[in-house]
Amino acid sequence: MQESKRIAIVGSGLVGSLLAIYLRNRGHEVDVYDRRPDIRTIEFSGRSINLAMSLRGWNALKEAGVAEAVRKLAIRMDKRAIHVVGKPVYFQPYGKEGEAIYSISRGVLNKKMIDLAEEAGTRFLFESKVWDVDLPTATIHTGQAENEAREALAYDMVFGADGAFSRVRHKMQRQGRFNYSQEFLQTGYKELSIPANADGSHRLDKHSLHIWPRGMFMLIALPNLDGSFTCTLFMPFEGKNSFEVLNTESKVRQFFQAYFPDVIEVMPDLLEDFFRNPTSTLVTVKCFPWTYEDKVALIGDAAHAIVPFYGQGMNAGFEDIRVLNNLMNVHGDDWATVFRSYQATRKPDADAIAELSFRNFMEMSTKTADPSFILRKKIESRFAEKYPDQWLPLYSRVTFSERPYAEALAEGDRQRAVMDEVMKTKGIEDIWDSEAVEQKILQLLEATSS
Ligand SMILES: Cc1cc2nc3c(=O)[nH]c(=O)nc-3n(C[C@H](O)[C@H](O)[C@H](O)COP(=O)(O)OP(=O)(O)OC[C@H]3O[C@@H](n4cnc5c(N)ncnc54)[C@H](O)[C@@H]3O)c2cc1C
Repeated sequence: MQESKRIAIVGSGLVGSLLAIYLRNRGHEVDVYDRRPDIRTIEFSGRSINLAMSLRGWNALKEAGVAEAVRKLAIRMDKRAIHVVGKPVYFQPYGKEGEAIYSISRGVLNKKMIDLAEEAGTRFLFESKVWDVDLPTATIHTGQAENEAREALAYDMVFGADGAFSRVRHKMQRQGRFNYSQEFLQTGYKELSIPANADGSHRLDKHSLHIWPRGMFMLIALPNLDGSFTCTLFMPFEGKNSFEVLNTESKVRQFFQAYFPDVIEVMPDLLEDFFRNPTSTLVTVKCFPWTYEDKVALIGDAAHAIVPFYGQGMNAGFEDIRVLNNLMNVHGDDWATVFRSYQATRKPDADAIAELSFRNFMEMSTKTADPSFILRKKIESRFAEKYPDQWLPLYSRVTFSERPYAEALAEGDRQRAVMDEVMKTKGIEDIWDSEAVEQKILQLLEATSS
């Protein structure tokens, strides 16, 4: 047990709300501040992103006792459905039998998480932007407008769960020896949608994450419970095929007819969506330290915003909370040690998942349709099935295991080196499922083991 503390969380997003539940379960007094109005009371709650929830996310929800309530909002996706122009849809299972990721609307999930945190006894203060934090005294300054008189509220501790452009982090940045970097991709994204059939059924396979890989750009679609799909078009801001050049209805129509002919049939609102919905940016944010003495800590996107191509941003934020909770079990009221251990444990993993997410963009957009990549994956999955102790595929290590992200990155690099050698084998297309290839992989693994 810990001594009960008065704790302020800045941000009622997914991470802030789940953290509130954990802290309430430990008996702390928790106030959550958000600059937005209560998203449960407004029709459209920000960006309508769909998220893929995987094992790390589910386990964090389970430990807080809320996984079952959330599961009702999610749709199971056990495979990628890859759409290549002029070819039938190709399905690629995500993992072993029984393994899947889950599609869930960020807005719907956030509303539920706030409900659950409120039921656990959290106090939410909406339309209360935090403008400043006094780090040594854990005092926050809130108010609606920058120049109005601000209220100063002192707590025992403050958590910055205020997302990629965190105000709490901004204050920490003003200290000496605080490292910070922010890097935008040249690629942005736009939400589009595929509505349900008249009878409420899905127009595409419901249990797949659909991908239309097209090199420098790609479209993905994730299913919703109401029969619709939320789609995301990832594309460069400038250049030949870019958001900049798609500036008239006829250009958008022609572009979709050329690159996504099967999509245009099922997207009746394409032009309306395309010109109404914003083109958003994708950013990687890294910083360190994440904590200030025993007073202030950053968590979730505020500590480590990553690009979304491994579907791990929220999952990683939820895992932060679980790690923090385990450290509270070990160190109790010694918050300075809890915070120090938290940042030391999580920082290498946050950096690793940032790197893996960046790399996965290239894999999803350029390689999923490449015959040599497909063959490589077939060899890997055959070998992994036969020798599960010797080979856990990188995607599975990130998505279906709780092994540290940093370990996944290192092991993934080792596996890539092995497969590069295997793919050089003469006639690999014909002998890929032979014992000789298996033996070669075993030898290469032996040679590269540390
Ligand atoms: C296109 C896209 C796809 C994604 N797909 C996936 C996926 O498939 N799987 C996955 O795991 N993750 C995914 N993510 C990442 C995921 O959305 C984020 O990691 C997650 O939402 C971060 O949650 P958070 O609570 O840390 O921050 P946020 O959700 O950004 O919440 C921050 C909250 O803080 C509030 N706030 C900000 N500043 C202040 C202030 N000064 N005062 C008071 N309140 C403030 C905001 O209003 C907001 O409510 C995706 C992200 C994008 C952009």
